[in-house]
Amino acid sequence: MKAVVYEENGQIVLTDRPMPEILDERDAIVQVTLTTICSSDIHVKHGAVPRAVPGTILGHEFVGRVVETGSAVKKIKPGDRVAVNVETFCGECFFCKRGFVNNCTDEHGGWALGCRIDGGQAGYARIPFADNGLTVIPDNVTDEQALFNGDILSTGYWAAKIGEIRPADTVAVIGAGPTGLCTMLCARLYTPARIIAIDTDEYRLNLAKEKGLADITLVPGREDIEGKIRELTDGRGADTVFEVAGGKDTFQTAWKIARPNAVVVIVAMYEEVQTLPLPDMYGKNLVFKTGGVDGSYCQEIMDLTACGKLDAGFLITHRCRLDEIMEAYEVFENKKDHVIKYAVTP
Ligand SMILES: [Zn+2]
Ligand SMILES: [Zn+2]
Repeated sequence: MKAVVYEENGQIVLTDRPMPEILDERDAIVQVTLTTICSSDIHVKHGAVPRAVPGTILGHEFVGRVVETGSAVKKIKPGDRVAVNVETFCGECFFCKRGFVNNCTDEHGGWALGCRIDGGQAGYARIPFADNGLTVIPDNVTDEQALFNGDILSTGYWAAKIGEIRPADTVAVIGAGPTGLCTMLCARLYTPARIIAIDTDEYRLNLAKEKGLADITLVPGREDIEGKIRELTDGRGADTVFEVAGGKDTFQTAWKIARPNAVVVIVAMYEEVQTLPLPDMYGKNLVFKTGGVDGSYCQEIMDLTACGKLDAGFLITHRCRLDEIMEAYEVFENKKDHVIKYAVTP
């Protein structure tokens, strides 16, 4: 089968790999029907993910059909249409029992797919702990609507949940890329008074506004972000800030635009070390929460998608076949052609 493989720093290739096989009784084999490229794949490509293992098939955001299950798999059956959770988790360790599946202590726990074990930019993929890592897609939800369930939508959902948003709050989201847009989509579930989207890309800001995800959009460099947000909040600052950009100054912007006692959720995956200037923020009494996502809510997200309350399908701006994916990487990495997300068919 064709697969995208991470070789070494900066090298990814589309090549032939053998079909995956069941290795553990809790595994399932999924025929990938739709997959995508995530910015985390680009971080792996840049060698910015130290735990990524060269030789691994990339891809951790995909949907498919179950073709085979191990003898201990109970919930999932061959023939099921499923969305795949970015995180594999045992469900039994200290962290899993508390819902912190990102830190599952199993050797394949946390973000392993498409990083430490073969992922889904391929015709087929092996999913460990299939009963935990697969969510059945109801008939009224399309593959495109379910594609982001286990990764960027899970991330937005988790971020919004830990953001402690209260009705009528002011929420600021830095970064209107795919994950930023998902964060806005999920923040809406908590009925804030307003969502302020901040990005240098006006096309993405317009999309956020057009889709009803953002009420106010601000462009750094052109507008005084801190001043504008204070103006909108009687001088206080935002009640919750989500930093989803991971840019040069965006971490500093995040704590500066937060009001005293705000929650600042750091969703972004940085490629460089950030500075926490504690003397400057003394007395602001901020609460910082950091990623990565605990992908514990895939079923809730699927239920909300099935009843029309959470649909991230609009993020798909580009479609291609797996044999065209190297070109798609080029477009996605360089944000060409106003790309938000690709849907790639193996
Ligand atoms: Zn991802
Ligand atoms: Zn665990």
